[in-house]
Amino acid sequence: MNISNIKDCFGCGVCATVCTRHIINITLNAKGFYEPQITDMAKCTDCGLCMEVCSYSHEGLALTDSNIKSYAAWSNDTEVHRKCSSGGVGFELGRTLIGQGYKVCGVRYNPESNRAEHYIATTVEELIPSIGSKYIQSYTVDGFKAINRKGKYLVTGTPCQIDSFRLYIRKFRCEDNFVLMDFFCHGVPSMWLWKKYVAEVEKRIGKITYVSWRNKFTGWHDSWAMSMDGEKTGEKVNWHDSYNMLIREKKGFYNSRLSQGDAFYRLFLSDSCLGKACYDKCKFKYDKSSADIRIGDLWGKTYQNNEDGVSAAIAFTEKGDDVLKQCNCTLIEHPFDIVAEGQMKTVPLMTQKYHIMMRLLKTSLSIKTTKRILDIYDKFYRHLLK
Ligand SMILES: Cc1cc2nc3c(=O)[nH]c(=O)nc-3n(C[C@H](O)[C@H](O)[C@H](O)COP(=O)(O)OP(=O)(O)OC[C@H]3O[C@@H](n4cnc5c(N)ncnc54)[C@H](O)[C@@H]3O)c2cc1C
Repeated sequence: MNISNIKDCFGCGVCATVCTRHIINITLNAKGFYEPQITDMAKCTDCGLCMEVCSYSHEGLALTDSNIKSYAAWSNDTEVHRKCSSGGVGFELGRTLIGQGYKVCGVRYNPESNRAEHYIATTVEELIPSIGSKYIQSYTVDGFKAINRKGKYLVTGTPCQIDSFRLYIRKFRCEDNFVLMDFFCHGVPSMWLWKKYVAEVEKRIGKITYVSWRNKFTGWHDSWAMSMDGEKTGEKVNWHDSYNMLIREKKGFYNSRLSQGDAFYRLFLSDSCLGKACYDKCKFKYDKSSADIRIGDLWGKTYQNNEDGVSAAIAFTEKGDDVLKQCNCTLIEHPFDIVAEGQMKTVPLMTQKYHIMMRLLKTSLSIKTTKRILDIYDKFYRHLLK
């Protein structure tokens, strides 16, 4: 039994991490999502490990005995609070655990390959590039493979990545060494969408050197913004200098916001180009998680006037609750439905729009034209429904 028949899965990469024969590659499939491929079937011993750690081929969740505590949370460090996507609790958890001898497996954006990747941070400096959500599917394999199961780690990721990861550490009886963190997840968009967006922006600013996915210049509620620098940009800032990244207050050279019609966010949030598994296999919405801690944006009524950013922080285990209480954050306990107000409770609906988008993304049409076609489709559809 092996993963050779698994298609359109979560693309979490844990099968490739566990394979002792090193014959599983994670590559982008025809729709622009990560998927496993066995490179040399003759070397497969049929040990079944790849299937044992695969969340996609398991019913239910790896964590079954959760005991939920839910908080509104934000960092007490104003620089961190300003820079992070919501309240900065993700960064503060990492910082606290690094202080206790843990390493952090988080996600940074790699401008060379234009993709989001898991990596290991061993110091607070190295943790800084993990700040902020990168709204594309991350490539996990190099980061996950670099984890020494005998060491202590905070591992962060999408709920499906974390569910498989829990199966993996349980299999090797080393769960005690790990703290797992996921987030309320909308789903991940096709990498073809991101590539179209990047191609358009690079025509203007040259090869992208830096991307910030959210910023709070015009307040937290309007923080869906792309801010980018490229090689043609006059200004030269060394974005590997983490201090610069943390305190960055001014805008990048290229700026675009959802509230002004940004094409990437418009198409991502239209639910028309998510991974197939996000529609028909996601089992992690709302209060379903295999993590010790879930974070997210607390967009609900209780904090509607807050423009600094508030994180939702949910502890599913006692371990998660202990860590949350140790980090440099203000925590205010609320019932779960207050903290999770506005989060998706069910999977998104796969409509005709998905099939149209999957075709459009493979054409050479620009992202602007792709967005225009989708807008026309929406208008036409709304008209038909009247
Ligand atoms: C694809 C995606 C969909 C999301 N959907 C929702 C949603 O529907 N509702 C909601 O409330 N929040 C969602 N979030 C989470 C949200 O954007 C913030 O991460 C959250 O508010 C916490 O912010 P923060 O300021 O505490 O931490 P941040 O500093 O933003 O920490 C972000 C953490 O997420 C990890 N991370 C970043 N990008 C990725 C990635 N591509 N894949 C895996 N891990 C990553 C980083 O390693 C870091 O640990 C989503 C995030 C992503 C990446």
